[in-house]
Amino acid sequence: MPRSKILKIGGSVITRKDAKTPTLNRKHVRQIARDVARWLKKSDGRLIVVSGAGSFGHPLARAYQLNAPHAQKDALGFVRTTASMLNMAQQVAAIFHAQDVPLCPIATSSVFTTADGRITAWHATPILHALETGLIPYLWGDAVFDLQHRYRILSGDQVMTFLALKLEIGELLYGTDVDGVYTADPHRDPQAAHVAEINDANYAQVRELLGASAHADVTGGMRGKIEELYRTPKRPLRAVIYDATRPRNTYRALRGKAVGTRLVFRAPPA
Ligand code: ADP
Repeated sequence: MPRSKILKIGGSVITRKDAKTPTLNRKHVRQIARDVARWLKKSDGRLIVVSGAGSFGHPLARAYQLNAPHAQKDALGFVRTTASMLNMAQQVAAIFHAQDVPLCPIATSSVFTTADGRITAWHATPILHALETGLIPYLWGDAVFDLQHRYRILSGDQVMTFLALKLEIGELLYGTDVDGVYTADPHRDPQAAHVAEINDANYAQVRELLGASAHADVTGGMRGKIEELYRTPKRPLRAVIYDATRPRNTYRALRGKAVGTRLVFRAPPA
């Protein structure tokens, strides 16, 4: 789909990730909704929004070990998690609707099925109809049915690259709480240097650096994001990882201005 983009809003942006109870970061969601509203006025492009789960998903997923590679899972834990995500989606949608942005929540747990944690089946129709009728489909990282392990966690990052491949969208924006990729975790290492661009030539080297960074959550953190992106066989594949906590940065990213770290892959994944 030409002129389409997918915007991922990280769990670290959309929620207070360290909160003990599910807590939306209303200020960030409002900022992003405003930026999307501004972009919509100037663009006739199509947009899909995917978000992380943050404090609405990760503490529950951990408590019920929903991402464990075995089938002994707590059924109530699964529905508590999917219901918590629906609650988040409803709150996010209300904030976007207040800015007249037609965000259309589509429950990830109802649309995707995985096998061993990777998507094997999905229901495209609601997403396609939403796009065709001028809406912005909104999906999120969620607990889903898994063929081998009963339930698993499906990350927003996997939803993102899966949709990029299936819908032939070559432009992905990742809003997170750091200004892109660094030589080390910038939250832990003040000496970490910013990486301006990741491409076919330096991918292996950057991946090596990220191997040493701590994993923030059950879905793999910054390294998981970049590996997921690289191994998606859509080429050319363009992405940007930028700081979505800063006002207007999402607008800049949507407009294609220089923000954060740029990723450009042209050669097939090695
Ligand atoms: P999100 O929830 O926004 O999708 P993640 O928590 O999955 O984001 O990944 C972003 C986090 O990755 C940052 O908050 C940062 O602390 C961490 N991180 C680890 N290593 C790096 C690195 N080399 N460069 C940038 N961020 C890193």
